[in-house]
Amino acid sequence: MKEKLQSIMEEALAQINGAENLEQLNDIKVAFLGKKGELTSVLKSMKDVAPEDRPVVGQLVNDARAAIEEKLEEKKNALGKKAREEQIKRETIDVTLPAKKPMVGHRHPNTIALDEVERIFIGMGYEVVEGPEVEYDYYNFEALNIPANHPAKDEQDTFYVNSNILLRTQTSPVQVRVMEQGHLPIRMIAPGRVFRSDEVDATHSPSFHQIEGLVIDKNITFSDLKGTLAEFAKQLFGENTKVKFRPHHFPFTEPSAEVDVTCFKCGGDGCRFCKGSGWIEILGCGMVHPKVLEMSGIDPKVYSGFAFGMGLERIALLKYEIDDMRLLYENDTRFLKQF
Ligand SMILES: [Zn+2]
Repeated sequence: MKEKLQSIMEEALAQINGAENLEQLNDIKVAFLGKKGELTSVLKSMKDVAPEDRPVVGQLVNDARAAIEEKLEEKKNALGKKAREEQIKRETIDVTLPAKKPMVGHRHPNTIALDEVERIFIGMGYEVVEGPEVEYDYYNFEALNIPANHPAKDEQDTFYVNSNILLRTQTSPVQVRVMEQGHLPIRMIAPGRVFRSDEVDATHSPSFHQIEGLVIDKNITFSDLKGTLAEFAKQLFGENTKVKFRPHHFPFTEPSAEVDVTCFKCGGDGCRFCKGSGWIEILGCGMVHPKVLEMSGIDPKVYSGFAFGMGLERIALLKYEIDDMRLLYENDTRFLKQF
């Protein structure tokens, strides 16, 4: 019996020593110490041992069990440590490897140009206001002195939701909405998307952006308009930029003008960029028509004002020397990341 125990123990210890992982170790534990294990079967055969020898044999079995358990625990710790070391080795981060650069977007040329225009006017005390893109015919045309049979409606053909509601053709309806609120004086710009049923080409798109400006106060004159736009042009295109006002006609302003700035490429000498003229057209403007003031509930005998409107895309195209407006809408990142 003693020899048998000895050989079971030796066999167990040898197997434990040879175990390569925790699963194997567990199998060994079951094989020797489990309910049907070898050591347990020795205990079961105690009934064959003479009663006077049982304490001794019992002690031997317990000693063997203790020895095997101790060895199991020791091996288990060693294997666990080895596994942890291997895991750490496997998961080590090499901080010297070059990092993956994340794709970072940036502002669209339109947005850069708009931010610049807003910065200039906010600096002159203007407020930035927004209005609805789906607009009533009344605000888009009627209240701006463009009655139903006015020829200007042909130039600004748009998309109608029904006979009263349309996609706005200009940002000017925002003027009317602000004037109607009656909080005077007004100094505002209104940037936003507008729509026309135009075919797409290098200078036209069915959807583009305008920036509208409106000032209403007592004693506002055409010289305020000229001074404001001259300062704006200098800040946007450079200190030496000059402005030129050409008489024009808009239904909602009187008198009206189109504004040219000296070409910022050639300084006014004439080049390919300004088609040899030395001037570049940038916006339309005028003194707000008394009828427009009246329709919005403002007394034209007390208040006067000026308004101006420019195409945001035009500013962006000029500033960044882009010669095709379609590039602004194609979302080609090779183009966009140049700005
Ligand atoms: Zn030029």
